[in-house]
Amino acid sequence: EKPRIIDDEEGGVLFYSASASSSSGYGFSSMEKQRQRLPVFKYRTAILYLVETRATTIIVGETGSGKTTQIPQYLKEAGWAEGGRMIACTQPRRLAVQAVASRVAEEMGVKLGEEVGYTIRFEDVTNNDLTRVKFLTDGVLLREMMDDPLLSKYSVIMVDEAHERSLSTDILLGLLKKIQRRRPELRLIISSATIEAKTMAAFFSTRRHRGPDNGPKKEPAILSVEGRGFSVQIFYVEAPIPDYLRAAVSTVLSIHDQEPMGDILVFLTGQDDIDAAVQLITEEAQSSRKQGLIVLPLYSGLPRADQDLIFSPTPRGKRKVVISTNIAETSLTLEGIVYVVDSGFSKQRFYNPGFDEHQSEITDIENLIVAPVSKASARQRTGRAGRIRPGKCYRLYTEEYFVKEMPAEGIPEMQRSNLVSCVIQLKALGIDNILGFDWPASPSPEALIRALEVLYSLGVLDDDAKLTSPAGFQVAEIPLDPMISKMVLASVEFGCSEEVITIAAVLSIQSVWFPGRGVQKELDEAKLRFAAAEGDHVTFLNVYKGFLESGKSSNWCHKNFVNYHAMKKVTEIRLQLRRIAQRLGIVLKSCESDMQAVRKAITAGFFANACRLEPFSHNGLYKTIRSSQEVYIHPSSVLFRVNPKWVVFHSIVSTDRQYMRNVISIDPSWLTEAAPHFYQRQLLNPNPSQV
Ligand code: ADP
Ligand code: MG
Repeated sequence: EKPRIIDDEEGGVLFYSASASSSSGYGFSSMEKQRQRLPVFKYRTAILYLVETRATTIIVGETGSGKTTQIPQYLKEAGWAEGGRMIACTQPRRLAVQAVASRVAEEMGVKLGEEVGYTIRFEDVTNNDLTRVKFLTDGVLLREMMDDPLLSKYSVIMVDEAHERSLSTDILLGLLKKIQRRRPELRLIISSATIEAKTMAAFFSTRRHRGPDNGPKKEPAILSVEGRGFSVQIFYVEAPIPDYLRAAVSTVLSIHDQEPMGDILVFLTGQDDIDAAVQLITEEAQSSRKQGLIVLPLYSGLPRADQDLIFSPTPRGKRKVVISTNIAETSLTLEGIVYVVDSGFSKQRFYNPGFDEHQSEITDIENLIVAPVSKASARQRTGRAGRIRPGKCYRLYTEEYFVKEMPAEGIPEMQRSNLVSCVIQLKALGIDNILGFDWPASPSPEALIRALEVLYSLGVLDDDAKLTSPAGFQVAEIPLDPMISKMVLASVEFGCSEEVITIAAVLSIQSVWFPGRGVQKELDEAKLRFAAAEGDHVTFLNVYKGFLESGKSSNWCHKNFVNYHAMKKVTEIRLQLRRIAQRLGIVLKSCESDMQAVRKAITAGFFANACRLEPFSHNGLYKTIRSSQEVYIHPSSVLFRVNPKWVVFHSIVSTDRQYMRNVISIDPSWLTEAAPHFYQRQLLNPNPSQV
């Protein structure tokens, strides 16, 4: 039976409506039965037909309908992975990559890392000879293009979670569109949880410039998988609440008191508030002798064992409470959720390079801020409650706020990110005209110019905006943020590459410290044992040294409030970075105790993040040299309250103020040494915003 295609001339896009079809069955195991019950199964034939006949297929379907776990398997069953070819499925989030890959391996009854594997940065669980279905982050697939520009080993690439519009997803979509012109046999599947599909289809539509008429049809088809979510009753707060964390905690407790069994999913913003909520709920439940609550955190960087708890079925008579970032919004499906508590917030990247000093919210430095989610996100969150039976969603904001103030859609990350890494990747792939690149959503020219300027100052781009050789190519090759890569390269000159590679590894993980659940004082005391007067980066070196001297002991970590899993990860990343360094001909050398060398190398990478303490500041107010933004040292830094006159920082987090995380003191003369072009003007003028 041929599927029915509906042509929608208006948007130049084809719509497709599938009539249900199912394949013949024989002797299914219960796993097979489970697979067949998923909504996407009815569309199996239709999906395979479209992939066969179309260069691009766009699939829209409710979270949990089986897009991510099933479609790659259908493709494999239909032979797309034969003849040495592979099927790729990308995800914006690392944790989602791991979780879906292990689920699919389980469904296929194979060992993870063999036929089904995954790759995330610094973790490759694939086998060159065996792996046929590969899950990976979109960032990793972008990196693979550096060695294999046409991604020739893949027959089908499924770009999943496209509605998230992550920076790497958008870059990837732009590049895949280019690759398609060179590889007509390549098939793309773009899958999404929301009907942002039309824009995507328009982006991939080539109707305007039709090519030679051979091979698959160029116009993308849209297939909508009808979900079978149950209805969800929505509750709003009557008046705005001052503290969403407290409100979330008390909502969970009253659901547990008053509502029938069923798991609870709470959306908060990040590790800090999630850990705090886990602790508060656990304490409250203990003190009021409430039985039967299993409280679990869910955020990226969660150890493997904790991830497994999230997915394991809730024991009888118990109620699971999962406190999550927006990773549970669409990337992961949790069975058994009946109640959702939505704070209305998430952590979002924010960047505004605005050259205009009157612009209200200039953040020349990229910032991670807690910001309101969009209506589209709020609806997704609500939907998570209707998975197994009618559910309830408690929104911790007013109905009026939802209707009148919440933005309808989120802004693509491309338009609110620092583009330094993006530009360097495109340059490394030989795309010179960045401003003219065909983006799914164009970034602001200002952001691109700022990125070019930073890369020029880093010595990565030359006067013609081409990658410098070898520095530019080396920075692009190292799978780290360009500023960190530059710091690693510069360490050679200062004879401290061993130390700086350790620092680079630590900056790649969330934190070396064990989350201070209710033990802030002990944690602070432990930190003092390692604290270095120079700042956090040198402190990390002390922690790493202690870890090595203890023989990588978990006991030692426990005693010192150091996160053992994080330190093991640091050791692994460090080994990989050393290997990359050796390949690039970087001399590995230790400076022993010359910490000035280390600080100079850090400055060579992070000069753009330099700040000066305000001369008469009593509360530790700093201003960035470049844009006079007001920033403070984060309380978790060893330099908190020490307030050296000049510092560079690694990143900014915003809560009530903008806080610098990972801070090191520097000598201002190093800035002009490291980046004369960037700084000479600013340093001569005491008030750079007036220049
Ligand atoms: P989609 O990508 O459309 O959101 P998925 O393919 O991720 O849907 O999930 C389909 C179904 O597979 C889920 O509803 C759930 O029942 C099951 N599933 C997915 N991941 C897991 C997992 N890690 N553990 C157990 N079940 C899972
Ligand atoms: Mg999915």
